[in-house]
Amino acid sequence: MIRPEFIIEELRKNMPDADFDMVWRAYAFAAKCHKGQKRVSGEAYLNHPLEVANILAKMKLGHISISVGLLHDTLEDTFATEDEIKEKFGDEVFQIVDGVTKISMIETSNKEHQQSENIRKMILAMAKDIRVILVKLADRVHNVRTLHYLKPAKQKKIAQETLDIYAPLANRLGIGWIKTELENNSFKYLWPNEYSEIKHKLAALELERDKYIDQIVEQISERLRLDGVAADVKGRPKHYYSIFSKMRSQNISFEEVYDIMGIRVITPTDQECYAILGILHSMFKPIPGKLKDYIALPKANMYQSLHTTVVGSGGKPVEVQIRSQRMDVLCEEGIASHWRYKEGGDKKSDRHDEQITWIRRLLEWQQEVKDPREFLEKVKIDLFPDEVYIFTPRQEVKSFPRGATPIDFAFSVHSDVGERCIGAKVNGKLVSLKTQLRNGDIVEILTSTQARPSRDWLKHVKTSKARTKISSYLNQAERQRALNLGRELLVGELEKYNLSPGDYMEESKLAAGARSVGYNTGDSMVVALGLGKLKLSAVFARLVPKEAITEPEVTPESIVSPTTVKRNSAQMGVKVSDIDDILIRFAQCCNPLPGDDIVGFISRGRGLIVHTKDCANSTNMGSDSDRCVDVVWDKKTSGKREAMLLVKTEDRPGTLANVSVAIADNGANITEANVLTAKGGNGHIYLTVEISDLSQLQRIMGAVMRLSGVHSVERIRNLRSFSAQMRKSKKKH
Ligand code: MN
Repeated sequence: MIRPEFIIEELRKNMPDADFDMVWRAYAFAAKCHKGQKRVSGEAYLNHPLEVANILAKMKLGHISISVGLLHDTLEDTFATEDEIKEKFGDEVFQIVDGVTKISMIETSNKEHQQSENIRKMILAMAKDIRVILVKLADRVHNVRTLHYLKPAKQKKIAQETLDIYAPLANRLGIGWIKTELENNSFKYLWPNEYSEIKHKLAALELERDKYIDQIVEQISERLRLDGVAADVKGRPKHYYSIFSKMRSQNISFEEVYDIMGIRVITPTDQECYAILGILHSMFKPIPGKLKDYIALPKANMYQSLHTTVVGSGGKPVEVQIRSQRMDVLCEEGIASHWRYKEGGDKKSDRHDEQITWIRRLLEWQQEVKDPREFLEKVKIDLFPDEVYIFTPRQEVKSFPRGATPIDFAFSVHSDVGERCIGAKVNGKLVSLKTQLRNGDIVEILTSTQARPSRDWLKHVKTSKARTKISSYLNQAERQRALNLGRELLVGELEKYNLSPGDYMEESKLAAGARSVGYNTGDSMVVALGLGKLKLSAVFARLVPKEAITEPEVTPESIVSPTTVKRNSAQMGVKVSDIDDILIRFAQCCNPLPGDDIVGFISRGRGLIVHTKDCANSTNMGSDSDRCVDVVWDKKTSGKREAMLLVKTEDRPGTLANVSVAIADNGANITEANVLTAKGGNGHIYLTVEISDLSQLQRIMGAVMRLSGVHSVERIRNLRSFSAQMRKSKKKH
């Protein structure tokens, strides 16, 4: 077992003023927690965290990372509590241990291969601190080193996961040695035959190849020495897994892989790299198209080098990589070489900036964007990829901007799902559509054919896709409603003058009228009318010549009709969703009062009719939902409305006076009153009362009911039946 002193010594070499005491305490705590636990190999469990800490020390990380390495399995596998770790080691250590524990809990088995990319993203997103990933990688390096103790099925599963997730993560972070070690060790368990074939062939080939490579190495070294350029020239075998990948991806045999051995030239400073490239190309013929300048254009993981392939003696091509010592450290240690500066207490801002740049590039790289327009859209709204990763019920991972809700999720599935969603389950629990999703949530969308997007949703979406789809749905719906309404208005107006709509509303006439008021098509003019952008009188005048108009007869009905007509919904005291300016009438069948639950219907020729929700007519029309519009009372603007009451009383003098006083006491006016004497000497008082809302009406009814001599008070909603009853009573009278 590795002794902790050994790790401390390693740390002291890299960071003489580190907090060694913290590492000792972490060791003691881990030893206590894992006491008695054994690994599958039979050795004490404590050996694993010690090895992980040792790897982190070798990566030249500081006391915090090394302590986390010692503690990384305590939360998951022992009785240690979060509070204990926080208290003993501080919040920074706790946060990283917690991050490592959470990554371990992402169940990555049995996932589709294509999901690996998203799981890697999720891991990156969940790790607020990049050290979480460094510790996790060190953990995986040791687990894969000790894979031979496990059963074959388990070996394969871990090896596959390592290849899918952890080796690419190491690559992304630029840590070349971890990537190589993880790949080679996983390769061995996943394709044992191919592994041993490559291993043996490589061993056999190395003698022969080496002579050839040695010869070129010698030539280059000699020439550089003569030219006075300091550089270290070495032969370099390709590693097993990259040979195998190349064979598989290009469908070639081992013998056909020409760059099994390469040459690496390492210079003390960056400046010499290009000079060496020039010298090389003057010595050997370069293969066109094989020169890659990763110094001027570093790879996304910050890898820098010059690559060229030249033809040596016997016409055999050989790849040469040229890089400085700085670049060499960078591509072996990657982001870890940056991190140590922070932990070392050297918080020079340029180092920090470099590190931030690194992480930023890393995240940018994740955004695989196929459509450049989609990219621009993304950039506008999701300026920085502050993302959350969500599971579908089928365990696929999807990424969303932070703050995204189930609505975003629904639209990402399909616009039909988005437009029909009524609710969502997150981790099996019903939640509001406005709930913000968190990393790792499993989201399921509930849909209904009745459901429609609402304008309110726009406040709760984060993805451009959902925003665009909702807006376009609403615009389309609004346009359709405005078109219907505009048509109804025109038809109504034509009928008022006894003109036939068919004569004036055919497309060519509408189009001509439209051009004269600045619209391209008849429909767009009618929409503008429905939206209130054009006045009905103006459109009417364009469509109907003056001589065709004869003033309509004034019918008694049109005078007594108690429905109110106003252009502006705000003046009517109701708000109509999606439409600001609309013709509104209150239905005569239910005479809605402020406080009643209401709903609007676009009617033939009479604008928007507001019914109470429980009115039989609105229930009937409910299925015809294209005509149905959401309306609510607007408390700020609602004015007075008339309500009808039937009060049944004993027929005695003064009753009407008492009723009037009770109504006046409650702040309402009586606009009409008819007192009739019914059979049996009872009085029926038909009242029309001007009130502001339902609660006032209820107060009035209560007050009237309490008067002596009053038998009953009834609100009559239906205007026609009110008049009919009144007439009937009169007859009886
Ligand atoms: Mn572990």
